[in-house]
Amino acid sequence: MRLLLLILACCLALPAHAQGFISRLLNQPVPGGVAVIDLGPAAGAPRARYQDKPVLVIHEDGQRWIAIVGLPLSTKPGTQQIAVQKNRGKQTLSFEVSNKHYQEQRITIKNQQQVNPNPANLKRIDRELAEQTRAYRQFSPRQPSNLLLDKPVNGPLSSPFGLRRFFNGEERNPHSGLDFAASRGTPIKAPAAGKVILLGDYFFNGKTVFVDHGQGLISMFCHLSEIDVKLGDELPRGGVLGKVGATGRATGPHLHWNVSLNDARIDPAIFIGAFVP
Ligand SMILES: [Zn+2]
Repeated sequence: MRLLLLILACCLALPAHAQGFISRLLNQPVPGGVAVIDLGPAAGAPRARYQDKPVLVIHEDGQRWIAIVGLPLSTKPGTQQIAVQKNRGKQTLSFEVSNKHYQEQRITIKNQQQVNPNPANLKRIDRELAEQTRAYRQFSPRQPSNLLLDKPVNGPLSSPFGLRRFFNGEERNPHSGLDFAASRGTPIKAPAAGKVILLGDYFFNGKTVFVDHGQGLISMFCHLSEIDVKLGDELPRGGVLGKVGATGRATGPHLHWNVSLNDARIDPAIFIGAFVP
């Protein structure tokens, strides 16, 4: 009886913010990371917005609602806020973003057009960027099938997210995804179920597939040698969407995988448990 009381006392002493597994794994509030914010219990699903964009909200452990917020690489460390609508009331919740240092990488590209494109290519790049940005901003109401994502290919990580990149000595956009070393023709599998929302053959990204996993969680797969899906296809978790290649701006065959939440490109390593602070 004494032991039981002791256990009971310990349970009651648990802090209110005691978190579930998903919260503990995904909460990496740094630029290019993810903030998991406790929204508490609510009668219906709360809605949350960050920088005026809708945010992924799930019911964790059947107990409380949490918001899973993507933080763009450009986020300034310090206090950030989300706007929450819950039980017919509105509130603002604050959270802290800490700093993270990303490494630099120097790459030599033989094709000068891929470093300093001519006006015609710049026009094409702008058009393609606008198309891809529209895809990232889609927000479908479906709940992601799984938040702990599967690796899309079985290969070692070859280039981390967030690298500051210098192509032939000139600084360009930081690395927006995660690279896997895999040989040409390796099948690429959907890390969670989803719908194919965009296909393309782009100047930088080569043959590319966008998959919407639901509520703003969107994957992009680049440099494919072959695309095996059509626009609008529904992929099960593990469904093959294409094969590894080296199309677009790539120095050799590999898979580049982007993960986006509320239109913020974030470190995919967080979702496969391989994040290093
Ligand atoms: Zn890459």
